[in-house]
Amino acid sequence: MAQIDIRAVRKSYGQTEVVHGVDLHIQDGEFVVILGPSGCGKSTLLRMIAGLENITDGEIAIDGTVVNELEPRHRGCAMVFQNYALYPHMTVAGNIGYALKVEGLPKADRDARVLEVARSLELEPFLDRKPGQLSGGQRQRVAMGRAMIREPKVFLFDEPLSILDAKLRVAMRLEIRRLHQRLDATSVFVTHDQIEAMTLADRLVVMNQGNIDQVGTPTEIYDVPASAYVAGFIGAPPMNLLAGEIAQDGGHVVLADGQTAPLPAGWRRAEPGQKVQFGVRPEALSFVPVAGAVALTMVLDFQEELGMGRLFHGRMGAEELIVHATEKTAPVPFGETVQVYLMPETVHLFDAQTGHRLGAEAPIPVAAQ
Ligand code: ADP
Repeated sequence: MAQIDIRAVRKSYGQTEVVHGVDLHIQDGEFVVILGPSGCGKSTLLRMIAGLENITDGEIAIDGTVVNELEPRHRGCAMVFQNYALYPHMTVAGNIGYALKVEGLPKADRDARVLEVARSLELEPFLDRKPGQLSGGQRQRVAMGRAMIREPKVFLFDEPLSILDAKLRVAMRLEIRRLHQRLDATSVFVTHDQIEAMTLADRLVVMNQGNIDQVGTPTEIYDVPASAYVAGFIGAPPMNLLAGEIAQDGGHVVLADGQTAPLPAGWRRAEPGQKVQFGVRPEALSFVPVAGAVALTMVLDFQEELGMGRLFHGRMGAEELIVHATEKTAPVPFGETVQVYLMPETVHLFDAQTGHRLGAEAPIPVAAQ
């Protein structure tokens, strides 16, 4: 087990800097997920921890030792890749023990170690099988076994689930989480899938164009996104973000289509006239009025049935708005204007220019309303 310290780390390819001075502390035994869209630098960061990419500036330490100049095999990290990269012609035992064979460990020692790892992963009954004779979940465990055999201090996962179909992904996600609970090894997992990230992470690191935008538990990031970028990336569907301007009284936002929405009581963190993005999660909107709720009008376009609720897509002026309604409402006349309700406490505000969150407080969680 190990802690990882990433200090002011930069990475350039030629003249282009793709990681811009990242700081991150990962605790012993923690499961950290690095989340961001394609090209934001997450794999580069992971590969720098593994030693597969040079660090242009800054330093990375594993268990207090700076590893910048250390060969990958001396860093105590094991990578689990997207395609598992199992050898199809080798048995499970051969795949798991391959690294020890390469190191020249005697067969008897190797077999004992393979058996130990296979037992811990409940793979003992499959040791003589080839990867093609295993289920997806078993293959994932073989890939883990192959990574575990050298007793790494750190597991590094580079989008290991992204090529799987949806059902298998969910199963694998649980499998990885269970393994982590058992092994307790420090793990860094890279993905562009926010649901995968939310469900796996002890802590989430949201990256944006080579920078870290926010680090926090999944709940912190969902409840108090630090920027409009994070708000728009987390949640399915993500937060509605509408252009607005703080009214002269400082307590309201005037939206682009002229409607006015009040801010939470006591709100004095934005200046009158300030351009903002007004954020409200689809699940914080409802067609049913409750005490204290504010009404806004929207035009409905279409709906998606989710079984446990419905997503209503519509417009507020020129901007799109999604409502996640859980109540069983009567069929809605599409193309018509309806009222939608929200509690002022569920509003998020971001500066229109910088994208930064205005005000530090969390809005009331949707479930507590
Ligand atoms: P992510 O994992 O978030 O999709 P990457 O870390 O793979 O992003 O890439 C970050 C940026 O660095 C991208 O713009 C990518 O094109 C660039 N990049 C990655 N690897 C190389 C390379 N070997 N040479 C030049 N540019 C690269």
